[in-house]
Amino acid sequence: MIRRINGVYYVEGGNTKIAEGFAHFFKKLGGRILNNTEVKQIFTKEKKAKGVLLQNEEIIEGEKVIVNGDLLSSYERLLPEEERPSYKDRKIASYEPSVSVFVMMVALKGRRKNFVHHQVYFPENYQREFNGIFVHKKFPEDPTIYISNSSYSNDRIAPGDNLFILVNAPAITFITKVESENYKEKIYNKLLAYGVDIRKDKVAEKTITPCDIEAKFFARRGAL
Ligand SMILES: Cc1cc2nc3c(=O)[nH]c(=O)nc-3n(C[C@H](O)[C@H](O)[C@H](O)COP(=O)(O)OP(=O)(O)OC[C@H]3O[C@@H](n4cnc5c(N)ncnc54)[C@H](O)[C@@H]3O)c2cc1C
Repeated sequence: MIRRINGVYYVEGGNTKIAEGFAHFFKKLGGRILNNTEVKQIFTKEKKAKGVLLQNEEIIEGEKVIVNGDLLSSYERLLPEEERPSYKDRKIASYEPSVSVFVMMVALKGRRKNFVHHQVYFPENYQREFNGIFVHKKFPEDPTIYISNSSYSNDRIAPGDNLFILVNAPAITFITKVESENYKEKIYNKLLAYGVDIRKDKVAEKTITPCDIEAKFFARRGAL
């Protein structure tokens, strides 16, 4: 069920319910879904994609192959260069990926008055943030901070506030654990200056960097 709150639609149970809905009907129509299964290669016959080779060496043949992952990294990873004359490695490398994100998912004990469902803390200089990200490929010193707290609209989803804290980040291939920890603390300090103390009452936390996004979804340099 989708609810509309002040002009924004909220999917009851979270966005993954949309994927679950598609999966449900796909299976009902006779489709087979292989979860946690990586495609290692797309193979071709007479210049047409005709199937996939899975990481476990299983081959699945088909009339057509539809790729829903990031296009540039899928081409690079799944099709040998000679099979894609109009998308050589050099051309792929010449594309600049879009923005990535640095995310902290935080569970708080209890509910605070600070939060509604969506809130955005804007920096003094929005232009400088995006110059830093795209020109200097740096994590912003003074970032826009978006916080989603879906338990505000649906208190059955979590026993306390369930914060999804997102800041814009450059698309990059490497960040150390220490850099990631330091940046997280910087964001918490920024929020503290806005009167929002995240460290107090925090019961669980997970940080996601552009590199995690690249590793999990094969999104080029973690770009969205
Ligand atoms: C933290 C975060 C916040 C975001 N916030 C917003 C937002 O507020 N609004 C908005 O509009 N967009 C947002 N986005 C962007 C949005 O999520 C993406 O644009 C969208 O998910 C793209 O959908 P897709 O189905 O094309 O690709 P994906 O959702 O990336 O799905 C592709 C799937 O293919 C899988 N895959 C890739 N390669 C292989 C392989 N070789 N073998 C098997 N599986 C493979 C991946 O694991 C992935 O599950 C956000 C993204 C992130 C990461």
